[in-house]
Amino acid sequence: MTLPSKLPSIIALTGGGLAREAGFAPFDPATLPTGLRLEDVLTPDAFRRNPTTVRGFYNRRRRELLACQPSAAHEALAALDALRSREVLVVTRNIDDLHERAGSQAVIHTHGELLKAQCLICTKVSERYDDITAETACPVCGNAGHLRPHIVWVGEEPLGMAAVYQALAQCRLLLVIGIPSHTEPVRGFIVDATRAGARTVELNAELHPDAPQLAERFPGSIAETLPAYARKLAGVTSWAD
Ligand SMILES: [Zn+2]
Repeated sequence: MTLPSKLPSIIALTGGGLAREAGFAPFDPATLPTGLRLEDVLTPDAFRRNPTTVRGFYNRRRRELLACQPSAAHEALAALDALRSREVLVVTRNIDDLHERAGSQAVIHTHGELLKAQCLICTKVSERYDDITAETACPVCGNAGHLRPHIVWVGEEPLGMAAVYQALAQCRLLLVIGIPSHTEPVRGFIVDATRAGARTVELNAELHPDAPQLAERFPGSIAETLPAYARKLAGVTSWAD
């Protein structure tokens, strides 16, 4: 995780709706391999019981991710970050690296990263672009067969939350992008940011009627609404200006 050197004034909270528009939906039930249920790949207990199945699922998703490209929305956030002197902190529930590939500098992955693995012996996290098997050795301690996907599974603590709450307490703008605004913890983030005096804006394919109060809400394709909003915010009519 890379944190900005100064506290960010803009927080972009992103989720599955953003990744889905880029063609990556690792946990959509409709895209699960035949016979596999989400609970088979989303808990520490599932990994203990059937590591081969769990490794195989994430190996497949890793290969799919490497074939995907960031969307216009990912690129707009990165362009805004560059124009606004690194004021943007991306807080994402997504496990892909599409924000980083688009060029965003400060990204907190609260639910882990598909392109990383954690060693169960030395606990170190390392980059992983190829398959993890029962024979794969940890690049740090050298022990083989003890790597797990660096994914926050059900029942495990989200990552980087202290930094997220610190940033929320002083941000000026919270963008809620492709993540349901009416469910926790997003609802709480919106309330916290509003209390701190920040403007809150939601960009989602569909807007839920039970969302907390937001200053602005934009329905429709995020790849269309976010670039338009980011350009307006940056005061440019195109990123080439
Ligand atoms: Zn190790």
